[in-house]
Order: sequence, then C-alpha cells, then structure tokens
Amino acid sequence: MNIALIAHDKKKDDLVRFSVAYQPLFQKHNLFATGTTGLRISEATGLTIHRFRSGPLGGDQEVGAMIAKNQMDAIFFFRDPLTSQPHEPDVSALVRLCDVYSIPLATNMGTAEILIRGIERGDLDWRKITGESSGTE
Ligand code: PGA
Repeated sequence: MNIALIAHDKKKDDLVRFSVAYQPLFQKHNLFATGTTGLRISEATGLTIHRFRSGPLGGDQEVGAMIAKNQMDAIFFFRDPLTSQPHEPDVSALVRLCDVYSIPLATNMGTAEILIRGIERGDLDWRKITGESSGTE
C-alpha cells in the first residue's frame, strides 16, 4: 500500500508517537510524507519515507496529485483544528480529493487507530486485487 503521512505543526508529536507505535506495520508499506513531517518520523522510527515539499510549499498538493492518479491508498493527516494555516486551500483540496476518489483519510488519532488496524487486517486489500494499488503491500 502507498500511505501518506502529514501533520500540522501542533500535531506532529502525535503523529510521530503514532508512527513509533505502529512502526512494524508501517515498514511493510511505501510511505510518503510532507517535508517536515517525513523528517520527524524518519528520525524517530528509522522508516524510509519519500518526502515531498513542506505542506505550505506545495507538499499537500504533491500528495493530492498521487491521489488523482490513483497512486495513494490511505492518508494519515493529523490536522490542527485550532490554528489557521496559510495553505488552507491546499488542505481543503487534499481532503476533497480523498472524497472524490474514496481514499481513506484519518484526520485524528481516533480514526487513525481504526484505519491502521483496518490496513493490518487487510480491509484495503481489494485495491490490490482490482489493481488500484501500486504499492508493494
Ligand atoms: P510539513 O507540512 O510536514 O512540511 O510541516 C505539513 C503541513 O503543514 O501541511
């Protein structure tokens, strides 16, 4: 599976902790992230992550482009609901594309727990069967 990891600044610690907890599962997949999030997670976990630009500099749009090309299977995007973001239009566009293409999107820890366990259980394996996933797992 191709999985994207993104967190706004005040949520980065949460996503890093989450990635450490599920490192054995994440390492079975192809990981992508916005710049700073990817750096933080790779430093904490040793995971290999393809890093795009930082979110405010276009990283969210790079993840969105993969969704549009049907190359992304799941997104963990820990949004900060209490701080306005300079790239809010990009954030909205990414969420919108997930809805356009029915790509699972976890925007908080509660949903992330469900999504990661679903991936582990094979709930998204249909994407491999239908050829929609370009990932290795
Ligand atoms: P960052 O971008 O990982 O480069 O901080 C995330 C975002 O703010 O969208």
